[in-house]
Amino acid sequence: MKNIRIEDIEIEVIRKNIKNIYITIYKLDGKVQITAPRRTRDEEIWDFALSKLAWIKRHRSKYQEVQPVKEYVSGEKHLFKGQEYLLNVIYTDKKQKVEIHNNQIDLYIKEGSTREQRERVMREWYRSWLKEEIPKLIEKWEQIIGVKVDFFGVKLMKTRWGTCNPDTKRIWINLELAKRKPRCLEYIVVHELVHLLERYHNKRFYAYMDQYLPHWKEIRKELK
Ligand SMILES: [Zn+2]
Repeated sequence: MKNIRIEDIEIEVIRKNIKNIYITIYKLDGKVQITAPRRTRDEEIWDFALSKLAWIKRHRSKYQEVQPVKEYVSGEKHLFKGQEYLLNVIYTDKKQKVEIHNNQIDLYIKEGSTREQRERVMREWYRSWLKEEIPKLIEKWEQIIGVKVDFFGVKLMKTRWGTCNPDTKRIWINLELAKRKPRCLEYIVVHELVHLLERYHNKRFYAYMDQYLPHWKEIRKELK
């Protein structure tokens, strides 16, 4: 068993070598996850989930005000570059893709596709946009800051907007940034590049931020 569904709530189930079952709700997207010891029976997981149902609902509604769980159907609002677009789902036998027309996102997908399949097409589109934008930002800021990035990647992260490994000079950028204003993306790129000068979030780090991006605090507030 991988996922369970109670009412309209999709719960991801992960089995690990741990002693006690626990539940997590991710702030970024309201995702619910149950982590259970390897030998837990499915019924026990169901019982546990049901016992937490009121709690899940209470917390999810809090997060969903920020970002509701999407169904990827026509008429739904989706974010791109900090702007709201109306989603228009179009069935196609050809290549699945996303196009933007005026204030509308056209999502071309195969008829009968699931929510997860639609989500995947949207995510790939967000990813391809970021893969085009990030190299331009890296190039610009490498010159200003005087550092060199060896690798960048884009992935969905639950708790961070970006990560940097100063030893390998690799940075990862959160896929969710495609939904935010481009200046948020730029701020995260600058933040990760500054880590190549200073590994820790200390005085020196923030002094660099003030120097390179004087209004960074304003953007950080926007991201929260
Ligand atoms: Zn950092």
